[in-house]
Amino acid sequence: MIDLHIHTTFSDGTYTPSEIIDMSLKKGLKIISITDHDTLEGIISANERAEKERIKIIPGIEFSTDYDGKEIHILGYFIDVKNEKLNIRLKELKKDREERTLKILEKLKGYRINITMDDIQKEVTGNLISRTHIASAMYKKGYVFSRKEAFLRYIGAGGAAYVQKENISPGEAVRIIKESGGLAFLAHPKFIPYGEKKIKELIQELKKDGLDGIEVYYYGHEKKDIEYYKRIAEEFGLIMSGGSDFHGGNREEVELGEVFVPDEVYEKMIERMESK
Ligand code: AMP
Ligand code: MN
Ligand code: MN
Ligand code: MN
Repeated sequence: MIDLHIHTTFSDGTYTPSEIIDMSLKKGLKIISITDHDTLEGIISANERAEKERIKIIPGIEFSTDYDGKEIHILGYFIDVKNEKLNIRLKELKKDREERTLKILEKLKGYRINITMDDIQKEVTGNLISRTHIASAMYKKGYVFSRKEAFLRYIGAGGAAYVQKENISPGEAVRIIKESGGLAFLAHPKFIPYGEKKIKELIQELKKDGLDGIEVYYYGHEKKDIEYYKRIAEEFGLIMSGGSDFHGGNREEVELGEVFVPDEVYEKMIERMESK
């Protein structure tokens, strides 16, 4: 009934917000959140329909941040999409993405992979470039057999043409979300490339910035992971979030609404919003 982690064409998903709403209604989802990477355009577009439909759409975002050279994602919910500071920062991040893409293309050239900005623009469906679009361009031009291969060999962390994003720290992302009136969550903790000790340190640090919770229910989390992250949430006095991380055809392993998210997750979020 609940899916709080969904990407649209405004970042690197393959369905528009309107299509996501149609699909959610068909599946009987009651509460969803559009959480595009570094952009609010999907929410603004969804809101045009949301009020008429029997579905609750929480305004969301997923920030890609850098922590000691590794990628950490921070989810924000109930943010004010008109917040000025948030919008200015997002504009800067969008520009950083363009510069990063140019650096990646330059590195790819070193491996005789000739992809141009035009090739990538053909893949971009919103106003923001993601590595997903670079992977699609590489795949379509026959340089790799799959998008996954593009990440593994070239553009993913540790790949030959990987370029680190260095633009925003997880702490800053949490603070921006809080200043925009929202709730901040550490996304898919299982996929943070650090050990338990460092992740706990990170959580402790982010709590000082106002972190509200962690994403416990997630498509890549097995039962034992869910139990583990539930305990971590309790240990640190945090609440939980959850969702599928649906990307449509850009991530075929998971369907919209496929991850079980208990009602309690939403209730606790509302409680926390009301107690602010
Ligand atoms: P970016 O936001 O430009 O850094 O691109 C990150 C996006 O690429 C993520 O949100 C995922 O959707 C996708 N991605 C990252 N790593 C992989 C991978 N190994 N295989 C497939 N997609 C990936
Ligand atoms: Mn993505
Ligand atoms: Mn993520
Ligand atoms: Mn995501």
